[in-house]
Amino acid sequence: MKGKSVLVDLSKCIGCRGCQVACKQWNQLPGEQTVNWGSYQNPPDLSAFTYTLVRFKEVEGNGQVKWNFFKDQCHHCVDPPCKYSADDIVKDAIVVDENGAVFYTEKTKELGNMDLKEACPYGIPRRNSVTMQWVKCTFCKDRIANGLVPACVKACPTGALTFGDRDQILAQANQRLKEIKVAHPSAQLLDIDDVRWIYLLHEAEAQFQMGLREERTYHFGWNRILSPTTLALGILGLVFKWRERGWKQAG
Ligand code: SF4
Ligand code: SF4
Repeated sequence: MKGKSVLVDLSKCIGCRGCQVACKQWNQLPGEQTVNWGSYQNPPDLSAFTYTLVRFKEVEGNGQVKWNFFKDQCHHCVDPPCKYSADDIVKDAIVVDENGAVFYTEKTKELGNMDLKEACPYGIPRRNSVTMQWVKCTFCKDRIANGLVPACVKACPTGALTFGDRDQILAQANQRLKEIKVAHPSAQLLDIDDVRWIYLLHEAEAQFQMGLREERTYHFGWNRILSPTTLALGILGLVFKWRERGWKQAG
């Protein structure tokens, strides 16, 4: 597959938030007033003015407490569900460029009541409440077009972010996974075929704070259990049981 990708190697992330600051600088996004909510994760969530956020999770391991960090932003899906949902309402409100960057245009202002955050499996997009435009990470498509790497990749001091041709990044991701599995058996690559931002987790998913992705997985499970079909089948089963009991008692 052509286009670009980024490897997000969380085993190398030290939570310095250099990527967060670089993203704000490049995209000229203002800082936001926040309050202490008991976490170093700041601001607490993505917003129309924060396209990328380092999420913090405190975890225990070998009798010690430590942090795991998850740099969150649009994963730039290969077949983006947000684009397909928006296309039904306004054609080309969301476009995908030759590098695979999923880009929200000004036409997203015309999407009416459509909730792009709901359409995204990772709950990423946010709407600017003044302009009504939907926004998110742009993959720094303007920088890439000029031969530069994304601002967040450039800023990362530990090499946790690597940008390149998709084939090269996939090979690097698989090689790194092999290396890291020796010391971290639960290491894994997340949704590798479906997204351009490929996450290498050195621990199980539950060891990271992954924003709406976690909630979606949980709710999805319950939705399936409580789907209209399963509910109807369950009620039918109960009716048969009662009737069976009634027949037995009558006999
Ligand atoms: S991660 Fe969400 S916002 Fe980004 S391309 Fe995929 S569906 Fe769209
Ligand atoms: S690629 Fe650009 S827009 Fe996206 S998170 Fe990195 S710096 Fe921000």
